[in-house]
Amino acid sequence: MKQVNPLKRNTTTPERPRPNRAFLTRRIPRIPDDEINKAAQAFSHFTFERSWGTILVCDLQGVRGVLTDPAIHIANTNRFRLADTNLNKEGFKFFFSTHVCNDVCRKLELISNADMVMKDKLEFREIWPAVDNTVYCSNNLCGKIVPASGARKSDEFPRCHWCETCWPQLESSKVRWMCVAPGPDHDFHVSKFFYESQGREMPRKCGKHREEEPAAVGGALWARMKSGAKQKNISGRSW
Ligand SMILES: [Zn+2]
Ligand SMILES: [Zn+2]
Ligand SMILES: [Zn+2]
Repeated sequence: MKQVNPLKRNTTTPERPRPNRAFLTRRIPRIPDDEINKAAQAFSHFTFERSWGTILVCDLQGVRGVLTDPAIHIANTNRFRLADTNLNKEGFKFFFSTHVCNDVCRKLELISNADMVMKDKLEFREIWPAVDNTVYCSNNLCGKIVPASGARKSDEFPRCHWCETCWPQLESSKVRWMCVAPGPDHDFHVSKFFYESQGREMPRKCGKHREEEPAAVGGALWARMKSGAKQKNISGRSW
């Protein structure tokens, strides 16, 4: 393939954008399976606690970063009757007979424990923090959920939000590109990362010569969904 220097003035065929998925994915950390399983154990305990002892989602297994195989135990014997993994209250006892609280359970300040379940004298955490408004990272291959207040934004990419991993790549992947519009030669700066993260072709013309292309959506919807009044915390019973 003929190599063309995009910065070389007098050329009419600038470098064609090449797909480079590697740099989009390599910096997204993989969580080890034992960490996932610890979180899954705490999640099961959380479902019981947060549902005020009505439901327990368990048996989640972490396989290469994905949680699979859930089983649901539910106190109400009229629900999920056809699920043979639903052991109702016996399922709660079964879970707590082996569950050892880990640091995630402690961080969640879960109160219920095996002793309470066996004696059917349950207590639960009463007050829970309200969840901050969240947005998705605008890199389509990342999509990490970040608090709206901490997400990185820039006028250059309206309506986009970026996580801490993707944000620096917008700037560091900037290249100077030759504008293909007719007229005197000139170049422009363009973030390769931005276009590849959107699965879009790199522009061949500078901003002036290009019609405004619509930026990635995602943030706007969330902005509309945001509620006006923000609660600091919510009661454990309102689930
Ligand atoms: Zn626990
Ligand atoms: Zn990201
Ligand atoms: Zn131009």
